[in-house]
Amino acid sequence: MDNGGAAAATDAFRALDRPPVAEPAANAVRAPEVRHLPAERRATSLSVMEPEPDSKDWTWTLTRRCDECGLAAGEIPFEEVAVRAELAAGEWVQILTASPAVNVRPEPGVWSPLEYGAHVRDVYRMFDTRLALMLTEDDPVFANWDQDQTALAERYREQDPEQVADELEEEAEAFAERLQSVRPDQLERTGRRSDGAVFTVETLAQYFLHDVVHHLYDVTGQQDAAAIIAPDPEDPAEPED
Ligand SMILES: [Zn+2]
Repeated sequence: MDNGGAAAATDAFRALDRPPVAEPAANAVRAPEVRHLPAERRATSLSVMEPEPDSKDWTWTLTRRCDECGLAAGEIPFEEVAVRAELAAGEWVQILTASPAVNVRPEPGVWSPLEYGAHVRDVYRMFDTRLALMLTEDDPVFANWDQDQTALAERYREQDPEQVADELEEEAEAFAERLQSVRPDQLERTGRRSDGAVFTVETLAQYFLHDVVHHLYDVTGQQDAAAIIAPDPEDPAEPED
């Protein structure tokens, strides 16, 4: 499927209690197809016991605070994203290594913490790939990523939480390093998704951050998930080289 949201923060997995998103995507060249399944079909799709695929576009999170996780991604300075990305990774490692029910789906149609963690690991990796591409090519088109298909194909449910935690930590470190390597004159470099949504290096980083923070909210239900990854003002992000 050509899934605009595939590149995005998924989170279809709480789709049932999410209000419809009506705003046009700020950075989209053309309006993405946003489908909202009627309630009956949602109920039917849940009966297949797999989370409903995410077909929503999440670029609105760049211009508006997310009421659920509390992150105003568009207001996060680029130079803070790396440190926040690492703080979020620390939370994910904690969830993967200390959750008593790490591989249990809270409901049939909702990913387990393990599945979310495996997804987030892949999000770090995927955004690192995209950022690398934007830094080396002019206005590249990103390869499509069907995250729901990946979850099934890679058997997220059967992965080892400890190993996922280790991999997540490594991916996060690599991505944070690449973020810190970005020069100020590279921030406006662009790349685009197959659905036409255009990102700059800066908005890609902000968009990524919402993804991993929102999934913390998905798993913990903490409305202040965004606050958890706020850098300590006494220990500000390292200035760029
Ligand atoms: Zn959110």
